[in-house]
Amino acid sequence: MEFNASAIAAEAERQAIRAAVADPTAAARAVSATHPGLPELALLLSPAADQLLETMALKARRITRRHFGRNISLYAPLYLSNHCSSGCAYCGFASDRRQPRRHMSPAEMTSEMDALQGMGFEEVLLLTGERTPEVGFDYLRQAVLPAAERFHQVTLETFPMCTQEYAELARLGAVGVTAYQETYDAATYTAVHRWGPKKDYQRRLDVPAQALAAGMRSVGLGVLLGLADPLLDALCLYQHAQHLQRQYWRAGISISFPRLRPEAGGFQPRHQVDDRFLARMIYAFRICLPEVSLVLSTREAPAFRDGMAGVGINKRQP
Ligand code: SF4
Repeated sequence: MEFNASAIAAEAERQAIRAAVADPTAAARAVSATHPGLPELALLLSPAADQLLETMALKARRITRRHFGRNISLYAPLYLSNHCSSGCAYCGFASDRRQPRRHMSPAEMTSEMDALQGMGFEEVLLLTGERTPEVGFDYLRQAVLPAAERFHQVTLETFPMCTQEYAELARLGAVGVTAYQETYDAATYTAVHRWGPKKDYQRRLDVPAQALAAGMRSVGLGVLLGLADPLLDALCLYQHAQHLQRQYWRAGISISFPRLRPEAGGFQPRHQVDDRFLARMIYAFRICLPEVSLVLSTREAPAFRDGMAGVGINKRQP
């Protein structure tokens, strides 16, 4: 079944309009729903649920403990390169930013991996920008091989690849691919992705399903909070995760909650996402997607990361 981006955006809008006029009683019913779905998620993200933050946190903590125990998994990101051929307006690595560009040599990669392994990490996330002459598929192959020898889990947040390339990296030991859609709002997507391969909205949307079909075992989804209306993006993200769960029921799905941060180009978020809304969003996703891994990165301050660990979030960077 094809993932229809316009249909999910229309459904997100319908649910957001209904939730906007809901009262706190409807939001309270959503917190205690037995099988919460998209309408409940919309209610939990609506202003009507703001006074239910503590109740949502308690429920999110119970669900997190039931499905993930008291352990918080840690993973280490390893930035292999800052070369990039794309022009994302919100990113300091965009190809028009003037800064030194480099990529790790094979010796540097293994030395960094040895250091991370020595610190006890069992999962590494390898990151690059979009494909360039310096950093392409062969370079990534060279990174996955030593990583798979050292870590139980090797995941990739790199440029989109063809099915054969994903299959080859899975064969070499990579188990997962992270590809945030950044925003599901097609107009905003087109405006902020100024040039390069990432400008292709549909191509980006297809990456998680393509990686799973090629043999990857898990995918990471997310939106860059602040680019577009966070409520609509959250409702589309939920539908994307559900679609993948239905199509690839054995796959591990994770969701991250990155917020826009200041970068070299001075990009300003159009929408503010404060700590209170972000916390509510994390609790709401935990309540509505109990078995999905929820991840927080070092974009967030340590105090916020510590506060969310175990209360919805089950995986984080150190
Ligand atoms: S593709 Fe990634 S690294 Fe390149 S500009 Fe966009 S966000 Fe930055």
